[in-house]
Amino acid sequence: MADKPQPVKVNYCGVCGLPAEYCEFGPDFEKCKPWLIRNAPDVYPDLIKDAKDADDVTEQLQGTSVSDKASGPGSSKPEEVKRLPGGKIKKKEKPEVIIEKVTRNRRKSITTVKGLELFGVKLSDASKKLGKKFATGASVVKGPTEKEQIDVQGDISFDVVDFITETWPDVPENAIYFIEDGKKVAAA
Ligand SMILES: [Zn+2]
Repeated sequence: MADKPQPVKVNYCGVCGLPAEYCEFGPDFEKCKPWLIRNAPDVYPDLIKDAKDADDVTEQLQGTSVSDKASGPGSSKPEEVKRLPGGKIKKKEKPEVIIEKVTRNRRKSITTVKGLELFGVKLSDASKKLGKKFATGASVVKGPTEKEQIDVQGDISFDVVDFITETWPDVPENAIYFIEDGKKVAAA
């Protein structure tokens, strides 16, 4: 690990021996550059931009003086990345519409539709449209997790996907899933 640059009065280049400020006038500025990036990033800020491709150098910079400066108030913080226990990065959860046919008894089934609100659909409005389209009863109810869902009387699972994607184009077909025998199955 390279040490942080110390706040000494003159930072002498480890390659050419000149004070860091003078390296660009020295015998071989190109050879000094890697040293300067690591040890005197303040003196040649442009070098840092040029070095973006060199991963190891950029990483070092982020670990030292650059991040120290960037953490002040008002500066833009890098987005926090959630990591799962295995070290995998947790992706932001994708919004989904979940359709499940629930049979209450042999004759009566309902189709629940969850998640439309994640696509900006007003559930009360969606409930009315579904009821009208399938000529059945539909209502917004609180599901087991207190989240609101739409209960539609009867089994509409065959046609509901087309209806949803036609009525609310913001809902992509590949975001719609069925729950079948407890398993999640893509509708698309
Ligand atoms: Zn130098």
